[in-house]
Parts: sequence; C-alpha cells; structure tokens
Amino acid sequence: MIDKTTIQEILETARIEEVVGEFVTLKKRGVNLLGLCPFHDEKTPSFTVSPSKGIFKCFGCDKAGNSVKFLMEHEKFSYPEALKYLAKKFNIEITEEEQTPEQIKLLNEKESLFHLNSFAAKFFTKNLLETEEGKAIGLSYFKERGFREDTIKKFQLGYAINKWDHFTKHALSQGYNLEHLKQTGLSVVTESSTFDRFKGRVLFPISNVSGRILGFGGRTLETGKKVAKYVNSPESEIYHKSLVLYGIDVAKNSIISNDNCFLVEGYTDVISLHQAGVENVVASSGTALTPGQIKLVRRYTSNITILYDGDAAGIKASFRGIDLILEQGMQVKIVLFPDGEDPDSFARNHRSSEVQQFITNTASNFIYFKTNLLLKDAGGDPVKKASLIKEIVGSIALIPDQIIRGVYVKECAASMEMDEITLINELNRVRRNNYNKKLKERSGQEAQTVIQPVLPGIESKVDFDYLSSAPIEKDIIRLLMAYGNQEILFSDDDSKSEEVGWDIASWIVKNIQMDDLSFGSDLHQKIFSVVSHELDVDHIPEPQFYLNHSDIEIAELAAGMLATKYELNDWGRVKVRVVKEEDRLKIAVVQSVFSLKLREIEKLFEKNLRKMKTAPADEIEPLLVAQRNLMKKKNLLSAELDRIVLR
Ligand code: ATP
Ligand code: MN
Repeated sequence: MIDKTTIQEILETARIEEVVGEFVTLKKRGVNLLGLCPFHDEKTPSFTVSPSKGIFKCFGCDKAGNSVKFLMEHEKFSYPEALKYLAKKFNIEITEEEQTPEQIKLLNEKESLFHLNSFAAKFFTKNLLETEEGKAIGLSYFKERGFREDTIKKFQLGYAINKWDHFTKHALSQGYNLEHLKQTGLSVVTESSTFDRFKGRVLFPISNVSGRILGFGGRTLETGKKVAKYVNSPESEIYHKSLVLYGIDVAKNSIISNDNCFLVEGYTDVISLHQAGVENVVASSGTALTPGQIKLVRRYTSNITILYDGDAAGIKASFRGIDLILEQGMQVKIVLFPDGEDPDSFARNHRSSEVQQFITNTASNFIYFKTNLLLKDAGGDPVKKASLIKEIVGSIALIPDQIIRGVYVKECAASMEMDEITLINELNRVRRNNYNKKLKERSGQEAQTVIQPVLPGIESKVDFDYLSSAPIEKDIIRLLMAYGNQEILFSDDDSKSEEVGWDIASWIVKNIQMDDLSFGSDLHQKIFSVVSHELDVDHIPEPQFYLNHSDIEIAELAAGMLATKYELNDWGRVKVRVVKEEDRLKIAVVQSVFSLKLREIEKLFEKNLRKMKTAPADEIEPLLVAQRNLMKKKNLLSAELDRIVLR
C-alpha cells in the first residue's frame, strides 16, 4: 500500500511528457507535443501531450488522461503498479511491503502472469550466477560465446536447473498457482505429469517496451541433435508474438537517437551487436517479421535496416521484410553479411569499430540491393530481366507516398537503364491491381470501373462572415469522396521550405479532428467517421469506395455528388491544364476546411457575446479574456490560410 501523501507527491512530480516519451516519439507543436497515437493505428499524428495540464489526449480515438492513466492503458499496469513505476522513474521513495501469498492471489490475471514471469527471470538469473550447475553449464556457455558479465546482467540472461520440475515446485511453494504456470508456459502440464519447459536450457527473457517480461526463449546446451535448439514460451494473454520484438526495451532510446533501427534474426545477434556498441537493434526472433512488429518500430523511427546472413534463406527473409516495411510507409536499407556469417558471429569475430564500419559501408537501399542480387540471377536473359523489373516495381508499388514512389522509380530506371515512363506505367498497373484485389477482398465483389475524379466546383463562395456551415460541410464531404485518395503538397509548419505530400483524406481528417469539430448533418458526420475509420486501418478510400458502400445513404449521396454531368464534362478540361487544376484542388480543400474552423470560432464568439450581455459585472473579465483569445485564434487561422493558399 502506498499512502495518500506519497501518491499526491508522485502525481505532482510525474512529468507527462517524460512518461509518455518513453513509449511514443513526441515532437513539439506549440505549447504541446504531438506524436503517433499508441492506442490506435494512425499515420498522421493526432496524439497530443500537454505538459502544462499534465495530460495526454488523442483526437483520433479519444483516449485521454494523466500519467497514471497512460501507464494503465499502455502498459496494462494496475493502479499501484503505475504509481510504483512513476515513483521509481522520478526518484520518489516509497516503502514497499513484500507481497504475501494472499496478495499475490488478488492480483488480476494478466498481472499475475507478469508477476510470475518476473519471478521466474529472477530465479533463472540466480541459478545462472550463483548455483554450481548454473555456473558450470550456463555461465560458462555464455562466456564461451563471448558474452561479458555486464551484458549477461543487462539482458537478464538465466539458466534453468536440469531437473524435471525444479522451477515448478519452487514457484508453487511461493504461492504461484499451476494455472498461471501453465498459461505462461513455464510449466508444461499434461494429464500424467507436470514439468519445466526450459529445464537444462539457458534463457533469454523477452520483454515489452517498458521491460516487463512477456516470455522466454531457451537454448539447449546439448549437442545431440535430438532436441530443438530453441524452445520459446507459447502465446499467452500477455505474450503476442506478432507484436513483440526482442530487445526493444534496451534498444528503444538508441533507436530514437540514431533515428534508425537494425533488425536481426535472433537473441544472440541482438546481444552480440549490443556488446559491439551497436545498441539500436531488435530481433523478430522465432517468427517471420509481421506488420505489428514494424508498427512497433515506427513509434520510434521511420528507418529500418535489415541485417541478415547472406545465405539463400536470409535473402528470402529480407525480401519479405522489405515489402512489409515499405508498405508501412517506412524507409528500408539492407546489410547482408558475408556468406556463412550472421550478425552474431561477425560481431564476435571483429572489433566494434569494424562492425560499425561494415554496417555503414554495406547498407544499401532496397532498389540497389534487389537490383544487384536479381541482376546477377538474370544474367543477360531479357525474359528474366523483365520479371526482375516486375519484382522491383512490385515493391515500389507498395509505398504509400506518391513522391517517394517517384524517387524510387527514377532510381530504378537509372540502375536498370530503363525508360522511366515504362516503369511508371507498370507501377500504375500494379497499383490498380493491388487496389482491386483489396477491394475484392473487402467486399467480396468485383470492382467496378472507377468514375473519373471530378473537378471541385467550389460551390460555396468562401466568405468568412456569417454563413451557415451547411454548404461548407457539403464541400468538404464532396472533396473527401472525390479526391480523398489524391495527394497534395503542403509545406510543414516547422520548416517552411520543405514540402510534404498528404493524401487529401488524411489532411482533412487530421485538421477536423485537431479542433474537435463535428458536422451538423448526421449523414456528413457518418461519412466522416467512416473515412477516419478507414484511414485508421491504412486504407485511403477512393471515390468508388463510397459509390459501392453498403450503407445505402452513403452510396446515394456519393452518386449524387460524384457523378453529375457538369462535373464529368469538366474533367475533360483538366487534362490540358493539370498543374493549375492541382493548385485549384489544394485551395478548395484548404479553404473549405479552414472555413469550417472559422465558422466554429464565430459560433463560440457569438455564444460568448450573449453571455457577456447578461453576466454580472464581476464575471465579465474572464469572458473578455475568452473573447480576445477567440479573436486571436481567428486571426491566426486567417494568417495560416493565407500562408498555405497564397505561398
Ligand atoms: P550456433 O551457436 O549453432 O550458431 P545460435 O544459438 O547462434 O546457434 P542459430 O541457429 O545461429 O543459433 O540462430 C540464429 C539466431 O536465430 C539466434 O540468435 C536465435 O536467437 C534465433 N533462433 C533460431 N531458432 C530459433 C527459434 N526456434 N526460436 C527463436 N529464435 C530462434
Ligand atoms: Mn549462430
């Protein structure tokens, strides 16, 4: 139990930006910080942290709260666990009593599993470092592998005594129950017997980002071929293999500071590289790389470098990895180690400086990597070369950002000595196919021909004075449906010179959510929710998505808005003056969204004014302040609008 005054102290001391910053990469945005929400999947940041208020709030999924709430949600901590974590982080002393067997029983289910794993890890470490058997077998093995003692401690490596149920018995005697031993997989429970899964193995605890132990990998020390070299904990309520990366807890800070994450195959690769001074390294360990694992990395950096052995299996694995990474909108480089070597053996046989140098010198972007490897295969055979081009374009087609795709097409054209237009045509074909395939999977029906995107007619003459927001809303919805999947360029707020490509849907949704705006019309609001949901699952809806929508109201509105004769006629003109029309599209998007924002401010302004008329004298002052703030906000918005539209 923690007493009230200590709780108060913890809450007052905990700096939300530091607590959240452990798990989410935050960038300063005005007085607040902004990052990708860890509670839902998103590509444009809508997760804000307010240091002055001590809270976080996500405008995408509405999760909000203080430091304690964040830890409870994110780390699945119980309330006291969260407090203890904060106390430790901010050096506040709390006296903690040993837990009695009764208290252990009371911990909730997941908490019990975490607790048991942490208990097991400590026990295994003790075995390794303090028992005769552990020292003679486990520790000497690790030393032989070249692991230093500080490394062994850092990774909490351990050893399980080679007796049938040595660990199980001990855990039971300490008040842990058999059901939990079974769920964590530490014990194998059959009808006839119960024994230790990891007996006689050296152990690698696998942790989540905050260092809580989810499971173990155990390597046998027997040289006989009868047993599996590695045995791992099974999936459990706390261990979801597809969402976990070995080493992420120790690598996290280094990944952020290097803005790059090295991806290797297994436990020993991570540890050996670490010892060689390369700390931004994680492993997918035991499973093929998954999108969930890549998203985990994406919280800290958008750059991944794959380090695999140069054998056929390694190359194949790296190809799969490349595509998955590109699909998540991240940059990927590849380092292949000389045949017969993996990062672990290489790090063991070379000096730290050589390892780092090798990685830096060898890392190549995926185009160069794939081209070189496949070109060797193809020789001079034109048919093989054609399929090679398809292979590479297939990878480029997965990149969500149009501009980055363009850069890679250029590069590919150069290295293949090919005409860029041919590649672009192939690229478009592949993207169309992919899209149709996705659609088919989603709806189970054949995709229809996409209606040509139409021109924005800018229906509402944008006038910032007293307008009803209805026509503005309608404009926004139409832009979303007709152009949501098209990209436009915006200069970033911070660096005015650099332009960033945004698909229109994400830009609109981000801007509307940022200010917590809602639509007056239920149908418009429904469409908006549908779009933001699609974006959350990484799908940018095309016009056809709305036209074919299963909600008849949406489909009807889409038909009315997207397929009018006037607009289709107008399309003919677009092709002639593409550039100018693109500018017009951007202006239409920005003006309509900003108009909605301004309209909202006008409404608040008016409401405040009404209050002022009836308020008693001593309450006027705060209302005046609010009024001035609204004015300020309005001016800022207008200036921002000018900046974007007129630059
Ligand atoms: P050796 O000493 O024979 O090289 P190793 O322990 O280095 O053995 P490798 O067979 O070289 O193991 O495998 C390389 C990496 O792949 C290891 O770091 C290990 O963590 C990981 N690995 C291999 N098999 C599995 C598995 N079944 N589950 C989880 N990780 C595995
Ligand atoms: Mn090995």
